[in-house]
Amino acid sequence: MLFLDGSMGEGGGQVLRTALGLSLVTGTAFSIEKIRAGREKPGLKRQHLTAVLAAAEVGDAAVEGAAIGSQRLTFKPKGLRAGDYRFAIGSAGSTTLVLQTVLPALLSANGPSTVELVGGTHNPLAPPFDFLQHAFAPVLHRMGAGLGLEIHKHGFYPAGGGQWRATITPAAWQPIELLTRLGEPQLRARIVSAKIPSHVAQREASMLRARLKLRADEITIDEVASPGPGNAVMLRLGFGEVTELVSGLGDRGIRAEDVAGNVANEAEELLTANVPVGEHLADQLLIPMALARGGAFRTMTPSLHTRTNAQVIEQFLPVQFAMREDAGAWRIEVQSR
Ligand code: AMP
Repeated sequence: MLFLDGSMGEGGGQVLRTALGLSLVTGTAFSIEKIRAGREKPGLKRQHLTAVLAAAEVGDAAVEGAAIGSQRLTFKPKGLRAGDYRFAIGSAGSTTLVLQTVLPALLSANGPSTVELVGGTHNPLAPPFDFLQHAFAPVLHRMGAGLGLEIHKHGFYPAGGGQWRATITPAAWQPIELLTRLGEPQLRARIVSAKIPSHVAQREASMLRARLKLRADEITIDEVASPGPGNAVMLRLGFGEVTELVSGLGDRGIRAEDVAGNVANEAEELLTANVPVGEHLADQLLIPMALARGGAFRTMTPSLHTRTNAQVIEQFLPVQFAMREDAGAWRIEVQSR
């Protein structure tokens, strides 16, 4: 049994999700205390509880402490099962983070799986569905793993109710290196809105044209089906071998110009850094790299998320991460130990 301190490093949901995922992959039971101690409302929120219950179902696990607000959890998996799953968060909580939890396990299972998810698809502080589709899944594919994605309904805070489906093909892992960009970055924007006035998306598009010199035909505006109102601005940056995606969410009290302006700021930061992998993809690639027992990428200064994730992974798998400054950027590498 492994003992984890949930307040380590960034002290958020990531420690728990990575532990659940790798407990399933390795069959290692764990106990965690001080879950999300670093957050304003510590303990399990509905989204984390859904992730725990999802992991328990996939791994036929015995669980203690699975309740809203709980800061302790014990998780003992019995056996990993490929299958057809459905996980519904009874709120607008992030469904992409629920998938992130069970994905390493289903990629390591003995057959293909499908997962239907219901809840938020475009949430603050989580990968939007489009990030999985354009940034994360293509890298997984190159590493020998299959993640097919289909969205049926978008879900935004507070109504939620988004619906999508992931089709997972177990991996024959191959380490990859993502060290440089190839060619000029290709920028494409997608703005989605549901149940809000159309001038919002138009103003966001104008801002992207002004700030990033995008042409009108490089911006798609989609009015999407969703139970509640919502708006997201997503910018793909094609770097050759890798596509990155930066995003911003509309909200009451935030001007459309600021939503798109923040996306432009983040894009400029990434473009200037001249690396293929941005902050969020960096922390999300660590588990696949560890499962492939090798690989390296160049990125910006590693976030606390990335450092914490590496620490948790090293407790479950026989790997070691090295992070070092490299010609004005950072190089992150994993090796077997
Ligand atoms: P936590 O804050 O511990 O719940 O973890 C949040 C997770 O969501 C991390 O894997 C982040 O990389 C990811 N994430 C947060 N914001 C974004 C974003 N804008 N795009 C992609 N991934 C994100």
